[in-house]
Amino acid sequence: MLRLIFGGTFDPIHRGHIETSLSAFAHLSADCMHVVPSAQPPHRDYPGASATQRLRMTELAYAELPQVYVDDCELRREGPSYSLLTLQQMRAQWPTDSLVFLLGDDAFAKLDTWHGWQQLLSHAHLAVMQRPHHASQWSPTVQALYQQHRATECEDLHQRTAGHILTLATPAIDVSATSLRHAIASGGEWRHWVAPAVADYIQQQGLYLAK
Ligand code: ATP
Repeated sequence: MLRLIFGGTFDPIHRGHIETSLSAFAHLSADCMHVVPSAQPPHRDYPGASATQRLRMTELAYAELPQVYVDDCELRREGPSYSLLTLQQMRAQWPTDSLVFLLGDDAFAKLDTWHGWQQLLSHAHLAVMQRPHHASQWSPTVQALYQQHRATECEDLHQRTAGHILTLATPAIDVSATSLRHAIASGGEWRHWVAPAVADYIQQQGLYLAK
């Protein structure tokens, strides 16, 4: 059983998240995907929408996909939303499954700044999606980690339960939550970058409007 785990702030969740994660899901022949919004993202200032609103948007975005579970474990936990804690929790729950943590190239480039990053690969594999127009220079530490753990094919991730890093040729979708928040605040075009139900929710809740 291969479980894909996709964490993020999702403020808001957009086509870059959905289309790339579903592409990774198909490419890896995953059995299911856990999408995990963070409660208190450790790497950024407090986001625009509340954790509950981001969870709701994530549920709306992946609705009607039976193999996708939107998981509120980081909202139920006290303290910062460290991915390591989530992976430890999932590893304890599913000791013999392959766990694959999915992240964009921009996030992977800074992996050595994450809490307990040296332990991540003891619990899960990492699958890295390309991120267009994010000139992300991997730090020497991240490059060394990749050389040590790189996998050449998807099958490697099924053979072991954790410990590999695989780069994926996911579709290049040039959008970020930051650009969407700016577009909403400034009256620009943004609806086509999110699922229709998410766009309706953003408008109903009056999210991301200029203060
Ligand atoms: P922000 O602009 O607020 O920093 P974001 O668009 O990067 O947000 P996050 O919620 O921080 O969204 O991202 C969650 C994960 O999804 C990260 O691993 C990130 O690299 C990845 N990701 C986000 N957008 C894309 C995209 N367009 N293509 C591929 N991966 C993406």
